[in-house]
Amino acid sequence: KQEMYRELRDKPSVTKDGVSVDLMMNAGLVVDIPQLADSGAAGIGLFRTELQFMVAATFPRAEAQQKLYRDVLEAAGGKPVTFRTIDIGGDKVLPYFDSNVQEENPALGWRAIRLTLDRPGLLRTQVRALLKAAGGRELRMMLPMVTEISEIRQARAIIDKEVRHLARFAHHLPNTLKLGVMIEVPSLLWQLEEVMDTVDFVSVGSNDLFQFVTATDRGSTQLAGRFNPISAHFLRLLRHITRTSEQTGTPATLCGELAGRPLSAMALLGVGFRSISMAPAAIGPVKAMLTELPLEKLTGVMNETLDGKSAETDIVALLTAFAAEH
Ligand code: PEP
Ligand code: MG
Repeated sequence: KQEMYRELRDKPSVTKDGVSVDLMMNAGLVVDIPQLADSGAAGIGLFRTELQFMVAATFPRAEAQQKLYRDVLEAAGGKPVTFRTIDIGGDKVLPYFDSNVQEENPALGWRAIRLTLDRPGLLRTQVRALLKAAGGRELRMMLPMVTEISEIRQARAIIDKEVRHLARFAHHLPNTLKLGVMIEVPSLLWQLEEVMDTVDFVSVGSNDLFQFVTATDRGSTQLAGRFNPISAHFLRLLRHITRTSEQTGTPATLCGELAGRPLSAMALLGVGFRSISMAPAAIGPVKAMLTELPLEKLTGVMNETLDGKSAETDIVALLTAFAAEH
């Protein structure tokens, strides 16, 4: 199989019926970088910048942040890289930072963009490091755990201010700057058009989104596997996101663990995603699935079921049978 995946690596990422799909990888540390070439990923769909903070004994200095971001962009050699601003708090604790914050529900607590907007020095330092590291290139930044549009506006004001500051001191700025948000908090689903009109791209964080939609702790061993994201309700929700993306012209991708399992990846393509981001080791198996996939046919079958027009209501059974047949 490894042999087969290696052979597939340099082949175009296209379904059997000719639809191109971007297979991106998730990363977060310098050691992940060689995987970009090894896996044949089209780029880094999610760079988890908090990992550098989590492996450190104290806040990484601005220079260290800038160096990491520059190394990543250099290794990517022009492939797109989406840097997510630090997503700390919740299950990602920094022992050296406000460890006396006690919350009953850390997943619903002071984390990610909520925390960095309250500690703008953190965000400012990171944004400046990113802007400097991406001089002359495209910079893609993504905000985690956004709940309301006002948070995007506040973050953008911080970014704009840093851009002006660096421009004043004649720094080499990125040639393009794209700002995106993670769709992880369900409140965004009822303001999707406005969100998409406010940003350059969105990426579904299906791990957190599924946790919040189903009120199921993603780390609970008792509940692991009880509810399946490959279900009519969650897939309808995801289809609503890709449809709104088409309507607004704002690209949507998905970067949770779902993207890395061939059967779930198949479902994601069936509800309209044309770009997904996963662990590098998953790219081979997902690509093997997709090159054999008659996507238009799958989309038809899935829509029938999701619209309640099919006798088959068990989506996993439907996908398994479709995969076996094709
Ligand atoms: C997610 O929530 O799906 C996601 C990609 O982010 P993380 O797993 O880092 O929370
Ligand atoms: Mg998340």
